[in-house]
Amino acid sequence: RCFCKLSGEVDDCSCKVETLDSLNNNQIYPRLKSLLARNYFRYFKVNLKKQCPFWSDDSRCALKDCHVDICQKDEVPIKTEKQPDNESNNQHEKNKYTMESNKGEQGGGDCTEERQLSALDTTISDEKKAEFQSWREHDESLPMFCEVDDEHSNDLEYVDLLLNPERYTGYKGLSPRRIWRSIYEENCFKPEKSVGYGPEPITEADNYDSATSSSAAFLEAMCLEKRVFYRLISGLHTSINIHLCDQYLFPAKNGFGPGTWGHNLKEFQRRFDPEKTDDHGPQRLKNLYFTYLVELRALSKAVPYLEEEVFYTGDAQEDADLKEGVKDFLAIVKNFPDHFDESQLFKVNSQEMLQLKSEFVHHFRNISRIMDCVGCDKCKLWGKLQVLGMGTALKVLFSGDSMAGDSTVNASLKSDFQLTRTEIVALFNAFGRLSSSIHALETFRALAR
Ligand code: FAD
Repeated sequence: RCFCKLSGEVDDCSCKVETLDSLNNNQIYPRLKSLLARNYFRYFKVNLKKQCPFWSDDSRCALKDCHVDICQKDEVPIKTEKQPDNESNNQHEKNKYTMESNKGEQGGGDCTEERQLSALDTTISDEKKAEFQSWREHDESLPMFCEVDDEHSNDLEYVDLLLNPERYTGYKGLSPRRIWRSIYEENCFKPEKSVGYGPEPITEADNYDSATSSSAAFLEAMCLEKRVFYRLISGLHTSINIHLCDQYLFPAKNGFGPGTWGHNLKEFQRRFDPEKTDDHGPQRLKNLYFTYLVELRALSKAVPYLEEEVFYTGDAQEDADLKEGVKDFLAIVKNFPDHFDESQLFKVNSQEMLQLKSEFVHHFRNISRIMDCVGCDKCKLWGKLQVLGMGTALKVLFSGDSMAGDSTVNASLKSDFQLTRTEIVALFNAFGRLSSSIHALETFRALAR
């Protein structure tokens, strides 16, 4: 048996790894793969030129495989703006109106998706404007897990995700180590009482190892909320590293030529084999399942919202087909019985818990800003997308509870959330990455036999 054949319950959840393998590989993965190839999901709007807010000396890497092909405006076959139905009484549609308000003509086309209220069409009544205003205030009162790219920046561009797959790029050494170090050491939580963990000196020495902070004792010394934070990040890290092993560039045999892409079992074993990782590998693989469960639960909570979504691209037939495909996918998500239970988090009503909630959000938002410091554009693209997807999942999971923390917001409004197209694309693609990683474990199991 390969070490990557995990079994038993996913930590901090009541769901078995085997259940998730079966759900994912037989039902979720094939459906998502075909959904994510559709135009609505394959074009992601992102700013890859944003300055790193934390350090200034990280030059962008020149590795060929880090390059991202940007779409020219006329190459993006989707329209992002929709003429709203003025008669619509649907809350979801009304809010989309504020976010994607038209310029007076159908499919305005200049890619500015989320408009300001001030730009609303003058034919909208004062009553409606007041309603939109209250939704806007509501949205702004929700916890902001991610720092989103400025919608008005000229550096915002569309990327075709299918043409720029997440895979091995050769990005290694000090730059990614500094990113991971900063994420784990400065933004993940630590237990109150020391369990033999001492912060490493903040130097660029290439001796960083987050192994101590993933030890069972370290995790057990923390409360559930802090463990959840760590497991989410570790699961994401696992997923990124599985992809680079799954689509690895082997150099050409004679040292010349483009090399060949394939699965690299040795690299996978180096990263996840218990013998080669001081026993940490399987735990890190399990964290992938944990992260998967959390995002699956967010999708399930968002089902009523997503069932109302138009998935607008400007092509009526395409939109109708996609809506059917999403419905079929959501039916599986909805019917899955062993979901992650987010109500177990932030349960206690205390000042300390409020403080912890706010730190949880703040730390996560910091991680979204760290993504602008990734030195390889391809890694940055997928890092930003996956952190935004995870942040969107957290926003869905924690909107509608007291995490909004603002008693002035009407209680009925608090039980809802709104998503932009970019957030929906990120949520589905981020979950798609986790799904593809779990699927790839099958490949490595077969190779190791
Ligand atoms: P790293 O993966 O850099 O890990 C650093 C330390 O973290 C390890 O020594 C270990 O102690 C600990 N660690 C490792 N995995 C986990 C885990 N799952 N949970 C907890 N702790 C862990 N490279 C590519 O080729 N393609 C990509 O698309 C890509 N995307 C990236 C995206 C981001 C945001 C970042 C920061 C890096 C990305 N990389 C990518 C680089 C890749 O993740 C590794 O950093 C790189 O391959 C060097 O690996 P390493 O062996 O030094 O260990």
